[in-house]
Amino acid sequence: MAIKQCVPPFAAIAKAEPAIKGARNPDLTAVQDFLIRFGYLEEGKCQAAELDSPTSEALIKYQEYYNLSPTGDFTQATRDQMTKGRCGMPDMIRGIEFTAECAWERFRLTFAFDSETGDIRGSAELQAVRNAFRTWAVASPLVFSEITPDENPDILIGWRPARDFDHNMGGGVLAHADFPPGCSIIASRLPLPLHFDDSEHVWTIGAAANAFDVETVALHEIGHLLGLGHSRVAGSVMFPSVNDNFIMRTLTADDIFGIRTLYPFT
Ligand SMILES: [Zn+2]
Ligand SMILES: [Zn+2]
Repeated sequence: MAIKQCVPPFAAIAKAEPAIKGARNPDLTAVQDFLIRFGYLEEGKCQAAELDSPTSEALIKYQEYYNLSPTGDFTQATRDQMTKGRCGMPDMIRGIEFTAECAWERFRLTFAFDSETGDIRGSAELQAVRNAFRTWAVASPLVFSEITPDENPDILIGWRPARDFDHNMGGGVLAHADFPPGCSIIASRLPLPLHFDDSEHVWTIGAAANAFDVETVALHEIGHLLGLGHSRVAGSVMFPSVNDNFIMRTLTADDIFGIRTLYPFT
C-alpha cells in the first residue's frame, strides 16, 4: 500500500484566528479564497486579507447554509465547518444557491472506470461505486450499465491527482463530478467526470479513522451527475461536507425527493 502525504482539509483556514468584521489579517485570504471557490463571494469583489462588507455578507450566506449563527464574522464554529473534507462542486453560483435544473433526457446511462486507487486491495473501490449507482437506480426510474472507457460512456470514473486537469481538488476537496449536459460546469462534452482525489486523502471501504468511504462519497457525486445540487439538510447525502471514519450509504427523504422531482416514476 502506498504511503500518502495526507493533508488535513483546508489547513490554511485551520490556522486562521477568529476575526470580526473590519479585521485585517493575512490569514483571512484563505477564508476569502474558500468563499470564492464554493460560490459565496465573487472574485474581485473584496479587499484581500480584510473582513470587509462583501466578505462578511458571504460569511452570513455560508453560516446560514450550514445552520451556524449568522454573525458575518469568522467564528470558531465557521472555521470548524470550513475545515471538514468536502465536495469540489460549489454550493452557490455567483452567490445564488445552485438548484437542480438539468436532468438527462434519457433514463439509461452508462459509466466506465479508467483508474483505481492504490489504497484498497483488489478492486473493491469499483464495486463500491457500482453499489452507489444501484442505490440511486432503486430510488428512480434510471438504469445504469457499466461499459469500457472506449465505448463512449456517459460518465467516466477514476482516481486522480489533486491538481486534476479538469478541476483543481487541491487543499481539502475529496472528489468532484459535474452536472448533466446543459448544466455542466466542468466538461464541455461527454463523458462527465467522477474523479476522486487520490493525492491528499486515504480511500477505504467502511469507516476508518483519517480515511473516507468510497461508496459514501460516490453516492454524493453521482447525485450531481444526475442533476442534484448541494442540500442544506444536514445528514442528507447531498450535504456538501463529510467526515472521515463515517459511512452514509442510503438516501434520505431529501435526496429521494430531489431525484424523483427530476425523474418522476410515470
Ligand atoms: Zn457535492
Ligand atoms: Zn477531475
